Amino acid sequence: MRDVHGDIYVTLFEDDPRLTVLRQLLLAYRVKWREFQEDTFTDEELDAARLLLVTIPDESMVFGGPRLGTQFDLSNACPVCAAGARQTSALMLDGADPEDVAKLDTYRVVTCYQEIVVDEQLAEALESEGVTGLSFRSVYAVRKDKRQVELPRRQMWAEHALPPVSPHSIGMNPRDVCSSCRRGGFYFSQLSPRLAYRARDLTGAMDVNRTWEWYGYVKFKGDLSEAVLPGPAFLVSPKVWRIFKDAGVTGFKWLPIRVVDDE
Ligand SMILES: [Zn+2]
Repeated sequence: MRDVHGDIYVTLFEDDPRLTVLRQLLLAYRVKWREFQEDTFTDEELDAARLLLVTIPDESMVFGGPRLGTQFDLSNACPVCAAGARQTSALMLDGADPEDVAKLDTYRVVTCYQEIVVDEQLAEALESEGVTGLSFRSVYAVRKDKRQVELPRRQMWAEHALPPVSPHSIGMNPRDVCSSCRRGGFYFSQLSPRLAYRARDLTGAMDVNRTWEWYGYVKFKGDLSEAVLPGPAFLVSPKVWRIFKDAGVTGFKWLPIRVVDDE
């Protein structure tokens, strides 16, 4: 596949003999290349996982959040990075940009930074299957004339946050972690991060949970109307993955966590 910059992408399994041939040819012709590794899991492996980290696909992202008027309570939030900010209103999404509007009209699931927004059928499926730890919030589109129009969609909401990950986690970049609270400013540094949790920290986990760590770019100087807030990632049981899969939702990556011994 060739992208807009003229870069060529080749995807191969790591045991494909053509990979060795390709590397030899690139060396011989002095072509520069980079390699990215991505883990893939079978349905059996996903079904057997204790919890799955849900990673947010870029293509489902719709602009929204505090800059469009979503309200937050900052009384327990870090003053530096805003980790711990608590959303207190419906989620406001962009109803003016044509690309975002097209996604809102056609995608079963859209995302807004770390938030996941499902259509009503998927919300009903999650509810009727008795998924624990999950409730829903209303979602509005903010039109060009600033009018707020309620959408036939629901924001997934989980109150239960797990304790911090075990230091045995792989693929989390702590470079930009907030120096004040150590909670905000995490990034995933590889395509397939493997979060690890101590067994005792999983007691009381629901079907839908959030991470203690807050992920993503942060722009926060105290004024929400200009802020980009970090957010906790979702950790869900295989039951939730099954419901998304049965609904035909694609694009999300579901990555099993590792459970490590208590220490
Ligand atoms: Zn902070």
